[in-house]
Amino acid sequence: MDNLIYELESSHEEVNVPEKLIFGQTFSTHAFEMNYDSEAGGWINPTIKKFDVINLSPAALVFHYGQAIFEGLKAYKQENGNIVMFRPEKNFERLNSSARKMCIPEIDINFVMKALIELIRIDKDWIPDNPGHSLYIRPVVFATDPMLGVKPGVKYKFMILLSPVGPYYPEGFKPVPIMATKKYVRAVRGGVGDCKTAGNYAASLLAQKEAQKLGFTQVLYLDALEQKYIEEVGTMNMFVHFKDEVATPRLTGTILPGITRMSVLEILKDWGYNVNERDISLQEIIENYNNNSLLELFGTGTAAVISSISKLKYNDIELLFNAESAGELGTKLYTQLTGIQYGIIEDKYNWLTKVE
Ligand SMILES: *Cc1c(COP(=O)(O)O)cnc(C)c1O
Repeated sequence: MDNLIYELESSHEEVNVPEKLIFGQTFSTHAFEMNYDSEAGGWINPTIKKFDVINLSPAALVFHYGQAIFEGLKAYKQENGNIVMFRPEKNFERLNSSARKMCIPEIDINFVMKALIELIRIDKDWIPDNPGHSLYIRPVVFATDPMLGVKPGVKYKFMILLSPVGPYYPEGFKPVPIMATKKYVRAVRGGVGDCKTAGNYAASLLAQKEAQKLGFTQVLYLDALEQKYIEEVGTMNMFVHFKDEVATPRLTGTILPGITRMSVLEILKDWGYNVNERDISLQEIIENYNNNSLLELFGTGTAAVISSISKLKYNDIELLFNAESAGELGTKLYTQLTGIQYGIIEDKYNWLTKVE
């Protein structure tokens, strides 16, 4: 590829993917890196090099004022040996949209996509091929200027890391308990809730920790203004299956526009469901539960694909769903999405990008 620099490891033959993979703890041999320097005219020195520690000044802007954005997507090894990514262009479009909001320079999507494909080809032996396994891809951009002062940086680093991962739920597709709370909010209108920016996740840790102490895996956030409407559950978008409708909160700037969410909406419309993006109050969910018109709740996101909900707690109210097996629609969607990703179901929406 034009002007892509290769600094490859010679000892690369000894790829050893651990049998038991803990999410996000194993990285492949190489990473992609390029630097932004406004004086040099933009993004420079795109390089595939050894995954290694990096040198940054303790004054680097990112540590103090948090200019950092990231993405998360996956590559899959299919049974016929093909390696594919799921809608990667959507992730890079979203990265650029996060960049605009955080005053970070945008990247050239075509170029970065080609560099990513090169990187995956070089490190393809790191893609586990056991069922449910994949290669998690983490693009990240952060400000590196060694100076203090609240202003946008003029120097940035863009990197792509590759991490082999196992299935999100190793014991199988099992529903999880969640709790809604008014104590914490995730994002407010006019804020950065629709960006994958580091601070949003730091701000979610305390709520998550408290929920886990009470035996819940995730927090269901409510809208910050009225605290009536559901927004997101942890790092997943939320879907509600009513008797005659499937609904998900509309995108108002406080919700991360998930690519799994977008894909689920397209599949459901294709299947003829009555699907709506609209405000859904917690009250509406509780009322429908009480008169048996609520079938199931599930979350959507790249990591777990679909997460079925076994229990929703809010103050003294507990809504209970089948705790042993996932809801019917959630299971159908999970089978469809993973079927497309692993090449078992035809990719009729053209969602896959072939790496090789
Ligand atoms: C990444 C993320 C999602 C899910 O997005 P996908 O593109 O489906 O992986 C949902 N909510 C939050 C807060 C996220 O960070």
